[in-house]
Amino acid sequence: MKCPRCEQNPDEQWPCPNCGFDISQSPWVVIATVNPPEDALLESLIKSFGIPVKLIKSLGSVFGLTVGPLGEVKVAVPEACAEQTQELLQAEMEQGEPL
Ligand SMILES: [Zn+2]
Repeated sequence: MKCPRCEQNPDEQWPCPNCGFDISQSPWVVIATVNPPEDALLESLIKSFGIPVKLIKSLGSVFGLTVGPLGEVKVAVPEACAEQTQELLQAEMEQGEPL
């Protein structure tokens, strides 16, 4: 992805050689909460956009709840990419791509 600050950085090098923005220093925000195996599908989809992604796996026992065998998984991206990621995911879903 391009730099969210200056919209340059076609080589996706961080920190951005143009403005110094470092995506790895951006706070992470949760954009979706899913159950396996959807987490792996979302992860590979988001990676295919060139956006870094983190899966935060909670053991259901933390909350006394278990949804599915592994519990829910939170999908997080850098805050600077959250809006773009949601737009891209929305576009994918509208195309009828399997998620
Ligand atoms: Zn930049």
